[in-house]
Amino acid sequence: MLENVLENGENQKELTVYAALAKAARNWDAYHAIVNTLKNLEENETLVIQSGKPIGVMRTHKFAPMVIMANCNMVGRWATSENFYKYQEQGLIIWGGLTAAAWQYIGSQGVIQGTYEIFQSIARMHFGGDLRGRFILTAGLGGMGGSQPLAGTMAGAVILCVEVSEARIDKRIEVGYLQKKTDSLDEALTWVEDAKKNRQSVSIGLKGNAAEVYPELLRRGIIPDIVTDQTSAHDLVYGYIPAGLTSEQAVELRQTDARQLQAMSGASIAEEVKAMLEFQRQGAIVFDNGNNIRSQAAQYGVEDAFDIVVFTEGFLRPLFARAIGPFRWVSLTGDAEDIRKIDRYILEEFKDNDIVTNWIHLANKYIPVEGLPARIGWFGHGDRTKLALAVNEMVRKGELSGPIAFSRDHLDAGAMTHPNIMTENMKDGSDAIADWPLLNAMLNCSSMADLVAIHSGGGGYSGYMTSAGVTIVADGSEESDLRLKTTLDNDTGIGVLRYADAGYEESFDEIREKGIRRVATEAQR
Ligand code: NAD
Repeated sequence: MLENVLENGENQKELTVYAALAKAARNWDAYHAIVNTLKNLEENETLVIQSGKPIGVMRTHKFAPMVIMANCNMVGRWATSENFYKYQEQGLIIWGGLTAAAWQYIGSQGVIQGTYEIFQSIARMHFGGDLRGRFILTAGLGGMGGSQPLAGTMAGAVILCVEVSEARIDKRIEVGYLQKKTDSLDEALTWVEDAKKNRQSVSIGLKGNAAEVYPELLRRGIIPDIVTDQTSAHDLVYGYIPAGLTSEQAVELRQTDARQLQAMSGASIAEEVKAMLEFQRQGAIVFDNGNNIRSQAAQYGVEDAFDIVVFTEGFLRPLFARAIGPFRWVSLTGDAEDIRKIDRYILEEFKDNDIVTNWIHLANKYIPVEGLPARIGWFGHGDRTKLALAVNEMVRKGELSGPIAFSRDHLDAGAMTHPNIMTENMKDGSDAIADWPLLNAMLNCSSMADLVAIHSGGGGYSGYMTSAGVTIVADGSEESDLRLKTTLDNDTGIGVLRYADAGYEESFDEIREKGIRRVATEAQR
């Protein structure tokens, strides 16, 4: 999984996987030490990792996790981007993103169903359930943002993706996520108009800067149906590229005058978000796609930036309240046929689950293989366990070629606190309470998961978030049955309880239906 993270990453040499700065390991020395240690790890031992560096091997027991890690956790008042950059410079810390340092990244597929479900939800809420002939404007074709063009075409729309780096545009075309590219806005708009007229789903990469293209579209009176952005706006120094600079010039300025770069990025984001707000005023459906762009704009003077809704609160919270979220499985032998066999099992056994069956049909048709063959699917409490146990049985019987690793995104019901992304405007006001991901991680250790990770934000996300990750391997053994059942039931169980504690009706329903044991205080009854 560690090798696979790098295989799919944006900059292998630097060990950078996605989201500007998210790394798989502290440095190459640490990487090799991790690999050597893992190769020699005994069954009753646990490897301890701190911010991408191996620290020690502890004698535990055979049901204990194989790896536990804590990446990029700084205490409250110290958790600023300035301190993060300083500690990073000193070689003391890395940001692990959500999936990079936790060895769970599977390429752009990792977020694609989330983006697709957002588009579908917008279609149902605003466009009579159909995005054909509709125009989506977005920006950023990096590791995660690169999923947008495919999610857009899968939803039937025409999607224009503004990206400063031609190399990133080419990469998405090469892996099959994006269809065409141009550096001419006029040409891009002609393609958009043609596709709208013919109700064709088309994805277009436009080489340009979002801070310039968005306001220019407004000047021309062009109002898309849906607008968002998935540049690395969360990081003003390592992520976002300000108007007027190429990616290379931004790297140079970072070395000579990082403060100047930061100020320029902030000013550009402010212009972009002002344009997004104007699109919204003129009827577009606009949302923040989880990159802190509103928080940055607010800090650079856009007072009404939070009039834009965040995708979780706007479109996905009813699913999270039932602990339905991004669950994934990876073939560790690299056999794509194993993933197709699991697809077939799901279509047969989860017939009544429309979210899952609709997605698996689409994924089977459209999602290319990147690195180890993998699949993501939004499953909830009980269903994750049912799937994983069935897969473990298939491994045991030799119906699959070898072990399958299960994990889920940190952006999951019980696993993330981020008051401007995952937990904004929680019903009970618990937006910034970080006890939940910590409880989640401890519970997963107690539940015999194979790998458990606690992450906090780094770079521009410093001080904004805490999250937990978990991986369990189905190797066909009976011991795996036990690990999978206990971990997956408890992982989603605590997710449902977290939302029940905040007062969400869907969670109470789930608790009743699935028999999750909640302890409610007198006041909560
Ligand atoms: P990345 O760093 O790999 O890619 C960012 C891309 O944006 C780069 O290709 C860069 O060239 C481009 N870019 C930067 N400034 C630009 C500008 N002004 N105009 C046009 N293009 C510009 O990052 P990523 O992995 O794609 O992640 C993007 C953002 O999404 C991050 O903030 C990340 O934290 C967030 N994210 C959200 C979710 C979610 O669930 N919604 C999941 C993962 C990541």
